[in-house]
Amino acid sequence: MLIDTHCHLDAFEFDADRAGVIERARAAGVGTIVLPAVDRAGFGRVRAVCAGQPDLPRLRFALGIHPLCVPAARHSDIDALALELDDPEVIAVGEIGLDFFVADIDPALQENYFVRQLELARDFGLPVLLHVRRSQDRILKHLRAVFGRTGPGGIAHAFNGSRQQADEFIKLGFALGFGGAVTWARALNLRRLVTELPLDALVLETDSPDIAPEFAAGQRNEPANLPRIAQVIAGIRGVSEEELTEATGANALRVLPRLAAPVYSA
Ligand SMILES: [Zn+2]
Ligand SMILES: [Zn+2]
Repeated sequence: MLIDTHCHLDAFEFDADRAGVIERARAAGVGTIVLPAVDRAGFGRVRAVCAGQPDLPRLRFALGIHPLCVPAARHSDIDALALELDDPEVIAVGEIGLDFFVADIDPALQENYFVRQLELARDFGLPVLLHVRRSQDRILKHLRAVFGRTGPGGIAHAFNGSRQQADEFIKLGFALGFGGAVTWARALNLRRLVTELPLDALVLETDSPDIAPEFAAGQRNEPANLPRIAQVIAGIRGVSEEELTEATGANALRVLPRLAAPVYSA
């Protein structure tokens, strides 16, 4: 099954035509889309988008505070998150992580929010959706400190680290998310990585509306682009599109077990 494991469908960029975007994803064969919240205001938004969509594609949500949203967050947002995580419809804690590319956000504050959310994931037994930018080793250190060797794992999304760092995430039970960035012919390191990694470590994502693929350069990204992204990755790996789709879909269900569970309706 084609699963977009990372898609900000609640973003304002989709306000004008969200239903059309979802319909195009369905028509393109996308079976499931995961919506990670990025801040407290987003908790209600991702819930609302998912609740309004009973059929295909299945929409599921994760809740968390994104590192770039930390400056505007309050410590009480973590308490609010803890209250929400009791809900069996929440499939993961995310999007959380560390972003050391954006220079003006206090690293210590990012790490404070990140670690407290990792602790919540541990306490609730939920996987995590990680945003990892210029912070691979720091994130691995925190994962080991909070989870040890037996954590709930999850996905390191838009992965762009080294092979060695990838192997460390895999050892901790993570799959690595790849999307539009791999479709750029000049992304040589990333294309080598996506070719060399074991197939059972890969999941697909669009990160819509961001990270437009080369074939949709300059445009708003959307989940209907996922099959062509899968086609490119299958091509550079030398496997069939079906094999890649089946494997990455099974991987997503393995690292996000609640994706396979029925939707609980109130
Ligand atoms: Zn991200
Ligand atoms: Zn994201």
